[in-house]
Amino acid sequence: MSKQVVVVGGGVIGLLTAFNLAARVDQVVVCDQGEVGRESSWAGGGIVSPLYPWRYSPAVTALAHWSQDFYPQLGERLFASTGIDPEVHTTGLYWLDLDDEAEALAWAAREGRPLSAVDTSAAYDAVPVLGPGFKRAIFMAGVANVRNPRLVKALKAALQALPNVTLREHCPISGFVQQAGRVTGVQTAEGVLAADEVVLSAGAWSGDLLRTLGLALPVEPVKGQMILFKCAEDFLPSMVLAKGRYAIPRRDGHILVGSTLEHAGYDKTPTEDALASLKASAIELLPQLKDAAVVAHWAGLRPGSPEGVPYIGPVPGHEGLWLNCGHYRNGLVLAPASCQLFSDLLTGARPVIDPAPYAPAGRLG
Ligand SMILES: Cc1cc2nc3c(=O)[nH]c(=O)nc-3n(C[C@H](O)[C@H](O)[C@H](O)COP(=O)(O)OP(=O)(O)OC[C@H]3O[C@@H](n4cnc5c(N)ncnc54)[C@H](O)[C@@H]3O)c2cc1C
Repeated sequence: MSKQVVVVGGGVIGLLTAFNLAARVDQVVVCDQGEVGRESSWAGGGIVSPLYPWRYSPAVTALAHWSQDFYPQLGERLFASTGIDPEVHTTGLYWLDLDDEAEALAWAAREGRPLSAVDTSAAYDAVPVLGPGFKRAIFMAGVANVRNPRLVKALKAALQALPNVTLREHCPISGFVQQAGRVTGVQTAEGVLAADEVVLSAGAWSGDLLRTLGLALPVEPVKGQMILFKCAEDFLPSMVLAKGRYAIPRRDGHILVGSTLEHAGYDKTPTEDALASLKASAIELLPQLKDAAVVAHWAGLRPGSPEGVPYIGPVPGHEGLWLNCGHYRNGLVLAPASCQLFSDLLTGARPVIDPAPYAPAGRLG
């Protein structure tokens, strides 16, 4: 297909969108206001599952399941082509003392997911460093985490190797160019960049950009803080989650503990309160972390959207403008399916998933 597509925003969504489109269109340009892959997609934890998958709509579940199956091959493909390993690390996940355990198990039975109740003694045997006092546990085998900073680094390297892709970093887009009701480009500080199609994948900033066209997209920044420990490689064999807080083991023994959920505009400053609260959660989950140093503490801005259902598809009334944004707490897990569906829609291919629940039509003010 003969087209130049401009992708606004180079987080995991914009980068993977560009990667998929590069095989199907002539030229792809990715513009990011900073360096690509340094915002939410870098800051996230990288669990390849929603935190409580049974609490989401079938729309989120459909994207999550497709992506979960696809992640290992995506990781292998990127590693083989770039030498950067996104480390898709399959550890399984224990949920402890859940209030809605029955709903979780019913959902898993319906969806055919490998989630089951386990004796707490079995959970303590499997994860000997788990804190005392947990009364109930459920376990889902096969859940992975991805080392998201490496995932975006690998995607960047893969795109840099493609002759028909241009990455324009430090290139903020301030608005869209329109001619006769059609979006024909974007406004950069150096002038207009023409495009046959424009994709808005600017994460938490997407709503601001769409507002320049008088459209209300309910995507807003939701701050999340995380802390990082470094332990022995075999310290934590599985991911564990209790009371909304989780610990994620990387292959090399780094343990991420997250996260907060704060409505603080675009402020990304890590705070002492969150540090204390995350440390307390970490010690409750894994008491040995009391003696471990926090080696990093950061915040990122999730692209918050109603019910966490992303916007994927064309913007009605503005031909040439497309959305792939609003992935809220699940942008890393949902990225492969979202970006496959997106490139199917833009190129007129048969969509891998029913696109109806994600269509912007009827969801913009
Ligand atoms: C603490 C925390 C933990 C998380 N844990 C998980 C998890 O375990 N699993 C999971 O699936 N998800 C998780 N997430 C959510 C996930 O990180 C996000 O949903 C996902 O990264 C969103 O990707 P994105 O590409 O839409 O946004 P971003 O990664 O934020 O990318 C948007 C890009 O757009 C650029 N941009 C913005 N405005 C402009 C402009 N005007 N012009 C040009 N460029 C612009 C930005 O610079 C940025 O690079 C977590 C998030 C946080 C903060």
